Amino acid sequence: MTRAPDTDRADVIVIGAGIVGASCAFRLAELGRRVIVLEREPAPAGGSTGRSAAGVRHQFSDAVNVRLSQASIAEYRTMEAAAYKPIGYLFYVPPDQWDAQMRAVALQRSLGIDVRVLDPAQAQAIVPADAQGLQGATWCTADGVVDPHGICMHYVARARDLGARVLVNRDVTGIGRVGADGLWRVHAGDRVFEAPQLVNAAGAWAGRIGALAGLDVPVQPARRVVFATAPLPEALRLPHPYPLTVDLASGLWFRSEGERLIFGLSNPEDTGFEEGIDWPWLETTYEAAITHFPWFEHLSIDRKASWWGYYEVTPDHNPVLGRMPGAPGWFNACGFSGHGVQQAAAVGRLIAQEASGQVPFIDIDALRIERFARGAAHGTERLIV
Ligand SMILES: Cc1cc2nc3c(=O)[nH]c(=O)nc-3n(C[C@H](O)[C@H](O)[C@H](O)COP(=O)(O)OP(=O)(O)OC[C@H]3O[C@@H](n4cnc5c(N)ncnc54)[C@H](O)[C@@H]3O)c2cc1C
Repeated sequence: MTRAPDTDRADVIVIGAGIVGASCAFRLAELGRRVIVLEREPAPAGGSTGRSAAGVRHQFSDAVNVRLSQASIAEYRTMEAAAYKPIGYLFYVPPDQWDAQMRAVALQRSLGIDVRVLDPAQAQAIVPADAQGLQGATWCTADGVVDPHGICMHYVARARDLGARVLVNRDVTGIGRVGADGLWRVHAGDRVFEAPQLVNAAGAWAGRIGALAGLDVPVQPARRVVFATAPLPEALRLPHPYPLTVDLASGLWFRSEGERLIFGLSNPEDTGFEEGIDWPWLETTYEAAITHFPWFEHLSIDRKASWWGYYEVTPDHNPVLGRMPGAPGWFNACGFSGHGVQQAAAVGRLIAQEASGQVPFIDIDALRIERFARGAAHGTERLIV
């Protein structure tokens, strides 16, 4: 086999130094693997990780997602850099979603999650709302927020301590397969990197990374905007932070961020690599907010404190995890569809296990890419933070 000039070799190449790639790199290095991480931006966490709303929740409707979050939040609880704050997630639920939400609660409880079902008055005591048209709420006080940037940098530092090379300003522009032993050859800038294994942790760009190797990885970008209010007027301050509150009737969410609120609403039409804050969408978001939270009328927006970023969306809004059929040594860790922060810790461990010939500690069969070929998407998750 001809070896390209200026070639760096490793056991595993990880593409992307967001929270997922960093977690994978750390766990791979921990298992004794030689790891190279290639990141296009000048620093880790420059993709979606640095732009997330930082919510972590156990309240998913599906067992594998609950387990991924449960294991990740357990890790974040003990990680100083994660700055885990259990401010809770409060879901206000309309009647037509009540039965599904109660099934989700039963599942969460069966997995050991302490979730409460509240009537409207109990929920209004936590977050004031006009509950007309809402049946009740679910409330988990172990849900909350973390510092995604802090977690990512923690994993990068731990990976480096274990000998991993995390290289920034390395834009991957070509991926091929070479040699009888089938190494992945990755072109990034003026250098070439080779390894028998590759982890695609490129977030919203994971579909493009797949395409460079001729592989169909069904991950698409979808821009999401986080609007920030000015500091709250005295009358709207609560004795506790506003939990991450979701109105399941519209998908609107908000939570405290210091003295402000941040809030958002997914726009299903906003797909592709659109850039910048979609200011016209503020009106739609605002209307959704005042339906059940009329006090939003008293809030003003801080345009400079608002931001945007990309969700990395799959057809069923669930991640694509694990080995790639027909592409030995290729592993996907992408497509988190707005849930990557709360799943990254667990995903790093299980991808490292699978790439090292071990059985992943959480059964991820339901999230393997083959589900799309079977036409059996894995029960669609909602696109909320
Ligand atoms: C507005 C918003 C709110 C969100 N809120 C939440 C939330 O509350 N809770 C939650 O869990 N998740 C949330 N998310 C989703 C979360 O941010 C992502 O799921 C998570 O950050 C994914 O991490 P990642 O490491 O896979 O991707 P990223 O952080 O995007 O990392 C991928 C990296 O790959 C790099 N890359 C891409 N192409 C190349 C290339 N060709 N060569 C080299 N490097 C490349 C990118 O530069 C990037 O750094 C939110 C996202 C947004 C945008």
